[in-house]
Amino acid sequence: MSEVALLAPFAGWFGQIDEVPDPVFAGRMMGDGCAVDPIEGELRAPAAGTVIAVPATAHAVTLRLDNGAELLIHIGLETVALGGAGFTALVAAGARVAAGDALIRFDLDAVGEAAKALITPIVVANDGYALRLDAPGRAVRAGETIGWLSGAGAGATGAADGESYSRNVPVAAAHGIHARPAARIAASLRPFAAEVTLAAGGKSANARSTVALLGLGVRADDAVTITGIGGDARGAVDAVAALILAGLGEAAAASPAVRPAPTGQAVTGAPGLAIGQVIQLRAVDLDVPVDGAGVARERQALAEALAAVAAGLGGGSHAAAEIAEAHRALLADPELADAAEREIAAGRSAGHAWRAATRSAADAIRATGDALLMERVADLADLERQVIARLLGHDAPAVPAIAPDTILIAEDLLPSQFLALDRARLAGIVTAAGGPTAHVAILAASAGVPMLVAAGEAVLAIPEGRTVILDADRAALDADPGVGALAAASERLAESRERRARDLAAATAPAATADGARIQVFANLGAAAEVPGAVAAGAEGCGLLRTEFLFLDRDTAPDEAEQRDVYRRIAAALGDRPLIVRTLDIGGDKPVPYLPLAAEENPALGLRGIRLSLARPDLMRTQLRAILSAVPAAQCHVMLPMVVDLAELRAARAMLDEARAALGIAAPVPLGVMIETPAAAMLADQLASEADFLSVGTNDLTQYALASDRGNAAVSAKLDALHPAVLRLIREVGRGAKAHGRWAGVCGGLASDPLAAPILIGLGMTELSATPAAVPALKAAIRRWALADCVALAERACAATAAAEVRAIASEVL
Ligand code: PEP
Ligand code: MG
Repeated sequence: MSEVALLAPFAGWFGQIDEVPDPVFAGRMMGDGCAVDPIEGELRAPAAGTVIAVPATAHAVTLRLDNGAELLIHIGLETVALGGAGFTALVAAGARVAAGDALIRFDLDAVGEAAKALITPIVVANDGYALRLDAPGRAVRAGETIGWLSGAGAGATGAADGESYSRNVPVAAAHGIHARPAARIAASLRPFAAEVTLAAGGKSANARSTVALLGLGVRADDAVTITGIGGDARGAVDAVAALILAGLGEAAAASPAVRPAPTGQAVTGAPGLAIGQVIQLRAVDLDVPVDGAGVARERQALAEALAAVAAGLGGGSHAAAEIAEAHRALLADPELADAAEREIAAGRSAGHAWRAATRSAADAIRATGDALLMERVADLADLERQVIARLLGHDAPAVPAIAPDTILIAEDLLPSQFLALDRARLAGIVTAAGGPTAHVAILAASAGVPMLVAAGEAVLAIPEGRTVILDADRAALDADPGVGALAAASERLAESRERRARDLAAATAPAATADGARIQVFANLGAAAEVPGAVAAGAEGCGLLRTEFLFLDRDTAPDEAEQRDVYRRIAAALGDRPLIVRTLDIGGDKPVPYLPLAAEENPALGLRGIRLSLARPDLMRTQLRAILSAVPAAQCHVMLPMVVDLAELRAARAMLDEARAALGIAAPVPLGVMIETPAAAMLADQLASEADFLSVGTNDLTQYALASDRGNAAVSAKLDALHPAVLRLIREVGRGAKAHGRWAGVCGGLASDPLAAPILIGLGMTELSATPAAVPALKAAIRRWALADCVALAERACAATAAAEVRAIASEVL
């Protein structure tokens, strides 16, 4: 059997795929297809087959038909942005469906109003199949034949019939393949239909399943074999290989605050010192019935609970958003879905099925014996409890109400529990289990809550109400401190609090050197939720808005309206403070599934930053229009990433001017360039003759100047931006800017280091854009120095022979 009739999935207007107002679908980038504009809110299977995937947002479904063809049906355009609102999945991955079976129910009016369009592309996602449409351009009823799909391989099992292609690559990511890298691998395969497996240590796993990948227990420097089968196997395997070779995107995610314990078993999860009273948090499992109340009912209940938990995931900070993304991937994991579906099909309740699925995945991870992966067991336990709580009608797993100065002790703590705690009252956390790279430790570090992990079972016996000293900087817990120890710890705590309070009290005043040279201190931001904290910490504006966070981890690019809304909220939250919006910095090591970019051997040297924007002017124009119409001209600055020379600046300037003219904006909008390449640093004088400002991205400038990949743990010890080679390049930037009367600043990681501040000022930088938390201490550091001393220090630093020598000189002078 190789020809399958396709039936209309709902009543509506049936047309060619070319009619879909979206270049990705209309241009057949995802495959050939057709479209139906629905007039009813129930999507049915166009043919018999198996459900491959339904995203947590339930706005689309992928089916594998009985002739092996894979069909993607995407309800409306850009509907992923609705986050599942208005959609209910009626089936889960792995379900067998007959032609005409209902798959997704959706609220036609609500979705129609909120989405860009309701027109629904139906796309054949794998190669080797020919689609013949039956008279497109007419109204159809649900179930009416709209075409035929003939397969090259009769009786094929989908992609398995195509080409097979393998590659063997070493894993460079510092922590191997843990949850976030696994989720990134799975996400990178979204544009491909091939079946892809990863094999290591004699085991093999479905590369689209985060859970299965975790079960492999791959550590840093292990080699993995990536094998793809199917028409686009080569592209899929190359995409995964490129991602792994680029370090699996872990450089940006690593928390600098997390470091191992100097001694003993306990480990620092988040630094800091705390004195407080113990509260023990004991986990209780909610009871779920073993038997289900009917397969269809339980299936639907589970799908709804999964969607509800996924929709509730999120968080203000970038760290919380990343973790939410990894959890979302676990909720949509095909292996977990398969395991739960098997239990439900055997008559079990949704809660029992979900618990069985998550626990057996956790057991598989435990069996790897890898201490780092063990921490992912906590993520699975978290999702087990959240979904079960939802099934039982609770909003979220319970956390205790805590008194001020609480030190919370638990066997382990779940990210959702941490987020639900009253953090103003939480002095510190100690967990018997867990590890320093567990998600909850990353959250604690970014919230400034000291945390000790892997402290051992004994901590669970510390009586509630007892006053203890948690010295996470030294990875120590004093469970029974004497009067002397308490007095000494109180004094240290008071000193550091005083210093922080002093810095904070002075943080909103402008910063200037001791002899009056004004230095602007800005904050680097990625989301509107970060603005109030940054302003309270004394940020005078935003020196770098990383707009790419809006473009990553999603199925389609954000449209102009969505971008406008985000930029407008950030600009409004900043009041009239300057906002420097960096244009899209994706490509290379930050792949996005909806941009069909070729895999690159050296992504850091490939099509990224401004190069990608100039190669895809459609994206750039949309972004520029959104920025200009959202951010008032008096506040708005545009900044270009990864610039090499004037030609790129000129091309971008022409597009900016064109967008301004089209929007009728007469006021000039400053256009700056990031200095991230040695070429741009050496040509800083030329760039400054046409750019309105220069801002040094020390993260990239350091990796390119020192030829040390910022995502490669093997060379991370070399990556110190205080290297004299980098400082000499920054000196060129200061000189070039001064020659043309422009300002120059730094927005890379070096700007957050108070030790570097006088050197950067001495090199001619008059603006520093740091992480919000670093602003008060940075302003305090600036005020301690006179400009002439900064210049002398900078010259000594440039004459040094190594970064360590520069650090020694700066600390000594301090
Ligand atoms: C940099 O490279 O220093 C920079 C600020 O850009 P990003 O870290 O986003 O690449
Ligand atoms: Mg950069």
